[in-house]
Amino acid sequence: MADHLIDCDCASQLGQMVKLAHQQRPQKVIFQTSLMSALLSGVYDGSMTVADLLEKGDFGLGTFNHLDGELVALDHQIYQLKSDGSARQARADQQTPFAVMTFFQPDYCLELDQPISRQAIHRLIDQHLPSDNLFCALRIEGDFQQAQTRTVPEQCRPYRPMQEAIAEQPIFTFNQKNGSVIGFRTPQYMQGINVAGYHEHFITHDRQGGGHLLDYHLLSGQLTFGAIHKLVIDLPTDHEFLNADLHPDDLDQAIRAVES
Ligand code: ZN
Repeated sequence: MADHLIDCDCASQLGQMVKLAHQQRPQKVIFQTSLMSALLSGVYDGSMTVADLLEKGDFGLGTFNHLDGELVALDHQIYQLKSDGSARQARADQQTPFAVMTFFQPDYCLELDQPISRQAIHRLIDQHLPSDNLFCALRIEGDFQQAQTRTVPEQCRPYRPMQEAIAEQPIFTFNQKNGSVIGFRTPQYMQGINVAGYHEHFITHDRQGGGHLLDYHLLSGQLTFGAIHKLVIDLPTDHEFLNADLHPDDLDQAIRAVES
């Protein structure tokens, strides 16, 4: 794998500036609203808005109320990735039942100058980070040979559990597109609270399309990532959340079925 890599100039510059930057920038914290297990059980309406989320981070992912598409946040903007594969900027008052945000402060910056698979990128990140027991936020900017996504379709009440709701989810393939991958790696012991392993969303460079990533193959681009040690969870207090079964026997299998 080593021949895929050239450390960017920015990496060494960042190293010198890192102490100063950390003094001036917010602490590295993952903020999330609600739980993956709540979403899985059909708690599809939350009260946190897009404007609220942007106070918690400039980078992240999630979904919208009624499970109306995928959410991706980058560069202080939040986009809604609709079930027809299109993307649009989200309104400040749109609400989310589940989202994960951070102020993105990568520790590593790698230039990937040869085609590389999603699995190989994940291995690369795993090799660089000190432990699988920490969170990681990652971003890829580049040319994608292919990005395969799916996007949940909007649900109507009475809500079905997520495994049923996504049975009809459309799958899109973006070919030869320039775009961004925004993702997190979550420790295995966090399954149910979040999505254990890698969870990534894609948006095209022109911000016209994207979705929840099933797979991708990068032709060339830049990978930035860093470990995060702190998690803040904002639990809902509404009736549906309070009465949801958040620890079903098939939790792990169900999350793997809906998120991979
Ligand atoms: Zn997703």
